[in-house]
Amino acid sequence: MDWKAGLTRVAGGAATLVLDALMPPRCAACGEPVDRPRALCLACWSTLTFIGHPCCAICGDPFEVAPPGQPVCGDCLAAPPPWRRARSALRYDAASRALVLGFKHGDRLHLGGLLAGWMRLAGAELLADADVLVPVPLHRWRLLARRYNQAAVLAHALGEVAGVPVSDRALVRARPTPSQGQLTRSQRARNVQAAFRVEGRRQLEIAGRHVLLVDDVLTSGATAGACTRVLLRAGAASVDLLTLARVV
Ligand SMILES: [Zn+2]
Ligand SMILES: [Zn+2]
Repeated sequence: MDWKAGLTRVAGGAATLVLDALMPPRCAACGEPVDRPRALCLACWSTLTFIGHPCCAICGDPFEVAPPGQPVCGDCLAAPPPWRRARSALRYDAASRALVLGFKHGDRLHLGGLLAGWMRLAGAELLADADVLVPVPLHRWRLLARRYNQAAVLAHALGEVAGVPVSDRALVRARPTPSQGQLTRSQRARNVQAAFRVEGRRQLEIAGRHVLLVDDVLTSGATAGACTRVLLRAGAASVDLLTLARVV
């Protein structure tokens, strides 16, 4: 993060602290009054579905009943994903969608710490092995339009609580990709192919490192898969994936 972004973050943090002192705390999702700042109300909290154990050792999909021995799901046995392991804090559904979209498109950056706390719990095993956190990048045009990359905000908040360095300049989106919302799985895969690269002068931030790729939502896996392949080609020792939410 450069000094300008850092300054904006510090200023934003200070403004949030001042606001916290002046305003009664409100639920981070729905805005109802709550008893402490940056928390969720009980109603919002109870609608979220946290993903816990037992889950597939590779993809992190929750099991109804854990199979005996190495718990790997049928999908991962049939076609292993490009990353080594993936974990997510929340099931992506109507409740978490409101939270994620508010974080992505609204000015809810102050949620970063709360959301990163959940990700830290879900990704404890992955964080223990990680040398560096790498957020899935936005193309600079979209970054300009949106002003911040939600994956980078999560990665920095996570890096702070977990004590792992963040590399947010090494992996870049080399060309803009249109919004993925309406596309089918195969269209998405084509769409993201060749969209990412590792900056040659920053390859040392990746080469030989155990990389933990960070994003807000895992849907088809096309974007994270493209990033993973690019990181491995740049010499990453391994790539794990941690997201706030995932489609199950
Ligand atoms: Zn609420
Ligand atoms: Zn699996």
